[in-house]
Amino acid sequence: MIPAQTVREIIDAVRIEEVIEDFVSLRKRGVNRIGLCPFHNEKTPSFNVNPTRNIFKCFGCGKGGDAITFLMEHESFTYPEALRWLARKYNIEIQEVEQSPEQRAEQQLADSLYIVNDFALEHFQTQLFDTDEGKSVALAYFKQRGIREDTIRSFGLGYAPNLPDLLLQRAKVVGHSPELLRKVGLSSQDGNRDFFRGRVMFPIHNLSGKVAAFAGRTMSSDKKIPKYINSPETEIYVKNKTLYGAFQSKKAIRQKDECILVEGYTDVISLHQAGIENVVASSGTSLTEGQLQLIKRNTNNLKILYDGDPAGVKAALRGLDLALEQDLNVKIVLLPEGEDPDSFVQQIGSEAFGEYISKEAKDFILFKTQLLLEETEGDPIRKAGLIKDIMGSIALIPDPIKRGLYLKECSSLMDVSEQVLHEETNKLINVALRKKADRDARQPGAATDAPSRTDNRPDVPEQEFVRFST
Ligand code: ZN
Repeated sequence: MIPAQTVREIIDAVRIEEVIEDFVSLRKRGVNRIGLCPFHNEKTPSFNVNPTRNIFKCFGCGKGGDAITFLMEHESFTYPEALRWLARKYNIEIQEVEQSPEQRAEQQLADSLYIVNDFALEHFQTQLFDTDEGKSVALAYFKQRGIREDTIRSFGLGYAPNLPDLLLQRAKVVGHSPELLRKVGLSSQDGNRDFFRGRVMFPIHNLSGKVAAFAGRTMSSDKKIPKYINSPETEIYVKNKTLYGAFQSKKAIRQKDECILVEGYTDVISLHQAGIENVVASSGTSLTEGQLQLIKRNTNNLKILYDGDPAGVKAALRGLDLALEQDLNVKIVLLPEGEDPDSFVQQIGSEAFGEYISKEAKDFILFKTQLLLEETEGDPIRKAGLIKDIMGSIALIPDPIKRGLYLKECSSLMDVSEQVLHEETNKLINVALRKKADRDARQPGAATDAPSRTDNRPDVPEQEFVRFST
């Protein structure tokens, strides 16, 4: 905790133009400074910094505030992180208020896990670039997949040779405790063997760019070996609050005011390499609330790219209602049959790819309606089921105006009167409200109706999760 006195000291010391100039180049105009807004894409500057009032304001996208707001928005810092950053810049010493012993222990553990992951990151990179096996197996694989060396380096890709305990041995030499390697999931649970062996390695960063976990893709053609494995959940890695590429992509997502979601690590990497940088991957799992909130911190517009297999797409659509609840605008893009984002962008190039995804993007609800309508043609009972299904999605949208617009469109698509659809939706909304009221009445601590979780970790609030990354 930072004492209030120090917070005031920091705020008094801050000169906003000095802070913002660390990120944006500004020039003088009268008493103000102007520059190109880092929060939206623009060619003529509408981003204003007012040194007298110590605030900034963009007349293009409306973002504005003080230096702390700027850092929180621009760097995805939490409030304390922004304060610490400013304290360092202005040489203000922070005498932290005593943390509880548990908090301190937690923070120390998180710090040491990051250190061990950094060590592993370097180790995997050395294995990739500086060993014969790394070069002939892993580097050759990346090259064959069309990944350039600068991309390999910027994503921190590496290689874990097919040896039982090379990483453990190296860790021992430099003095990292085997217990920490076990805790962060880099060794087997009994601590005797490396967790990742014979795999190319993808570090998974948290939002501030620290390595929270790894994923490894096998170099073996043995079908019994899982293609990808991931670090287990740890104090610093909560899977359902992590998106691959979120760190590398956050700036572009904010500038484009859109997040493109793909499935695989190599999709993210390949699109980045092609200059399409507002991309993250959910790594196969269906989207969770935590992941959606991560997206929502930077944009309300989500574009999801699917490989063109209709069965797979239908299954995926079921998970998307969560995004509607979060009030995200969801668009779907189907890629041509047999293509994934990686193969497709390499085949047609970035410009054509960009055109394709903006041309083919379809609104999620209308897309779902059309897809299901085709299936229920001539079958009134199934069609009734479909209407309920779609209305269930629409009922989740918090904004009544948006809801109304969808009902209108769906009414004409499904050939059902708008009135009927309105009634159906209202019924569903009322049911949801009643359920929520019941739930609230049983608070606090009533967990009977809480959504079931696959793990038994306590809910880590977003703030807490980010705090580990200071
Ligand atoms: Zn702006």
